[in-house]
Order: sequence, then C-alpha cells, then structure tokens
Amino acid sequence: MSAGVASDVVLFGGTGDLVMRKLVPALFHLHSLSLLDPGCRIIAVAREPFDDEAYRRLVADKARSFLHEGHDESAWAAFLARLEYVGCDVRDVASFNGLRERLKPGGSRLFYLSTTPALFSPICRNLSASGLILEDSRVIVEKPLGHDLASSQAINDEIGACFREDQIFRIDHYLGKEPVQNLLALRFGNSLFEPLWRREWVSDVQITVAETIGVGSRGEFYNSTGAMRDMIQNHILQLLCIVAMEPPASISPDAVRDEKLKVLRALRPIVEERIATHTVRGQYRAGAVEGQVVPGYLEEAGIPAGSRTETYVAIKAEIDSWRWAGVPFYLRTGKRMQDKLAEIVVNFRQMPHSIFGSGALGHFANRLVIQMQPNETVLLHMMAKQPGEVMRLEPVKLDLDFREAFRTQRLEAYARLLMDALRGNLTLFVRRDEQEAAWRWVEPVMNAWAESEELPRSYNAGTWGPAAASALLVRDGLGWHEEIAR
Ligand code: NAP
Repeated sequence: MSAGVASDVVLFGGTGDLVMRKLVPALFHLHSLSLLDPGCRIIAVAREPFDDEAYRRLVADKARSFLHEGHDESAWAAFLARLEYVGCDVRDVASFNGLRERLKPGGSRLFYLSTTPALFSPICRNLSASGLILEDSRVIVEKPLGHDLASSQAINDEIGACFREDQIFRIDHYLGKEPVQNLLALRFGNSLFEPLWRREWVSDVQITVAETIGVGSRGEFYNSTGAMRDMIQNHILQLLCIVAMEPPASISPDAVRDEKLKVLRALRPIVEERIATHTVRGQYRAGAVEGQVVPGYLEEAGIPAGSRTETYVAIKAEIDSWRWAGVPFYLRTGKRMQDKLAEIVVNFRQMPHSIFGSGALGHFANRLVIQMQPNETVLLHMMAKQPGEVMRLEPVKLDLDFREAFRTQRLEAYARLLMDALRGNLTLFVRRDEQEAAWRWVEPVMNAWAESEELPRSYNAGTWGPAAASALLVRDGLGWHEEIAR
C-alpha cells in the first residue's frame, strides 16, 4: 500500500533535534512500509551550507539511534538517498530561490515548521512572497504556538495570512498515539461503554503524563515555559476532550473538532477563589530517580536562582454539561516523577450493594485504564471469583495489549500524523479555535500563580509530586490511581 501522495515534504529546521529524533525516523518508517509515495521528496532546510551528501552523512550519524527496532539497512540506505538539502536563512526572502529550484513546479507541498515559533512568521511570509504556497500546499506547525492567548493569536494570524485554516496542521503528537485513537474506537465502535460514559456511572477521571527526566539541556527553554504551557494547555486538554466529547456525527475533521471545542468551552473557569482548592503547582528538589541521585530544578543548568517555574501541575477540572456535571477530571503532569507514565483512568462508581456480604468487595469499583506509557494498552479492572470452593472475589484486569492483539506493524505518533497530513486528513490536528479556547482556560490560572506571593510547592525528585496533590482528591473522598489499591 502506498499513501499515494507525491508531495514534496520540506523540513524547515532540517538540522534540528526534532527532525533527527522524530521526523526523520517517522518518515523512514513510512518509507520502509511503502507508505511514502516513491515520488515524494524530502527536502531539509537550515542555514548550514551543506550539500545533499553532507546532509545525508549528518542524518546517518544523528538519526540512526532513533530508528524503529529491526529496521532494514538497505531500506535505510535507500531512504537516505531520498533526502535533499537546501541552505537558506528563512529571514531572507532571496534565499528561498534555492528552495524554489528544488520544488516540483505545481506539485503538492507539505511544509513542516520545525523551528522556533519566532521563525514561523518569516517562513510563511517568505514562502508566500516567493510564490511557493499553492492551492493544495499544507503546513504543519509544532508546539509551542505562543506562550499565552495573545501571542498564540498573533502567530495564528501570521500563519493564517498565508495559509487557509484547512491547510494548517497544528500537531499534538499525543493525538497520534495508538491508545488515544483506540479510545475513539472503544467509545464509538462499541455500544458497551456509551450508556456508562456519564455522570451516573463515572465517579472521576484522572489524566496523568509523568516523566522521570528533568529539564536536561533545555533548562532555559523550560524555565520560560513551565509544565502548564508545556503539557496541560495542549496534550492533556486534548486527551480530556477525547474522553469527554459527545459522539461526533462522523470521524470527519470538523465533526470531531466541533465536539472537542464544546468540551473546552464547557470547562468551568478556575476563578481566583478556586486556585487554592483546584490547582497545585510544584517544583522538584534533589532526590533519587531510578536509583540515581539527581539535582533539584534550581540546581539545573540554565535555571536562574529563585526561579518559580512549575515543573509539576495538578488540577481539578470540571465540565459544565449534562453528561459530566459533578464528575471531577483530575489532570496532572510532572518532571522527575517516580515513574514514566501516561494514562487516562476512568473510575466507575462503586456497586450500590454487595450480595457477597459486607467487606467482600472492599472499596472495589470498575476502572478503565487507557495507557500510553509504559505500555500501549487498555485495561479493564473487574471483579472475578477466585477458583476454589469458597466464594472469594478478587480484582482482575482484562488486558487489551495491542502488540498481542494486532501483530501488524504499529506506527509511532509522528509517522501516523505525517501520513495524515500527506493525505490531507485534519481529524487528529488541532483547530485554531480549540487551541485558543484551551489558552482561555489555562491563562487565568497562570496569571493568578504569577501574581501570587506563594512559591511552587517542593517535591522530592522520584516521588509522585507534592502532598497537596493528594489532598486535592482526598477532599473529594478519592485518591490518585496509584494510591488506591482496589
Ligand atoms: P533546534 O534543535 O534548535 O533546531 C532548530 C532548527 O532551526 C535548526 O535546524 C536550525 O539550523 C534551524 N534554524 C534556526 N534559525 C534558522 C534560520 N534563520 N533559517 C533557517 N533555519 C534556521 O530545535 P528543535 O528542538 O528541533 O525544535 C524545533 C521546534 O519544535 C521548536 O519550536 C520546539 O519548541 C518544537 N519541539 C521540539 C521538540 C523536541 O523534542 N526537540 C518537541 C516538541 C516540540 P541552523 O541553525 O543550522 O540554521
């Protein structure tokens, strides 16, 4: 099978980290599965004065360790031969001539802006001034799109002056993950869950994206960003939308994105009086992660003394809709946490009565876990009878391990999303109004934190974050997934 789209793919920022770690491996994976049309050319753009051969050598060196397991060396060599390179300072319109000479006249084009967002505007303007944006050209833009609502609107205006909204693919790679798409399949491809997917049956939802790594060499970038902008505003709110949206009429881009937008608009604003009861921000101090002693955030390279940037956020979100009124959605993310974990947990309500006698069920309630990391799996926690004569119940997990269930090749998120962009499918990309609605919800919280005298709460590296994050749930008579053994 071939994607059947002979686009020219232009990678702005072609010598950068994202291209080497994610985009080249993703394009190579598509190539090796014959999902990249043979007529599709890959043209990298950056300022270094490489020729094609020198660029291929750079890629061979830098991207190699990120390729998918068991890749075929001859396919890799053939892929490298497809790469081209154009030296260009994107701030200089004259240097786009080299790119024009390489592009197929009149052919479809996919521009991937893998540079700092400060360059998005010059790239779009100069592409447009050079006549390189055609009717069917597309642009993929990476996060972060701005650091608040106003700056995000400004960037969107600049891109929007050169591309129509249906040509703009705002990537959120969490939407490209298999378990997230499986959540769509689970919800809308089965009749089983829909009657239960509501306030009457769901007690609470927990969305966690936890990392064990610290800020590494990206201290300066991270310090001006923080966990709220880096994770909550985009990835975690997008996951919340997939869990909470109403069934769309179809899987078409606007049907899905309209429903996600309604969720974002129904999020109850966290006004100042609720900051203390609904949000927790933290910053890691020294500790031990996976047996290694690690420094605190303030000791990391590039972090100014006394920085108040949050490396951890927990939020109680509420959705004002008939389906979800009264159901808390607890969102959390952090660096230097105990485990690397990305999952959505849907906790169902407890049984109204135990026919097995008091205590037989303990605090058990059914729980659906959609896990993206460490394993891509969906687990349904159920109660079952232990084998033997006595009627003794025990929690067990129905495990839909995708690797076991489907022995076909899986696509990593970036490969999946690149393929969708080549095919012009916007369903898993974020629309401007969604992105701005997300900023509208997080911005008042960030402003309140910035104005507050309070410092972020400290937590030891290698733990699950500040104790106050547990209190957020305990107040509601609940606990985080890992705290409650059911
Ligand atoms: P990076 O390593 O700093 O790469 C930046 C690229 O832009 C380099 O290829 C650089 O090459 C090129 N560049 C800079 N100025 C240029 C100019 N005037 N004209 C032409 N090219 C220019 O950045 P990155 O980590 O790959 O990140 C790229 C974008 O993706 C950023 O917006 C980042 O926030 C986002 N992102 C990155 C990651 C990640 O894991 N790295 C994850 C999510 C999002 P020259 O200096 O040689 O020109």
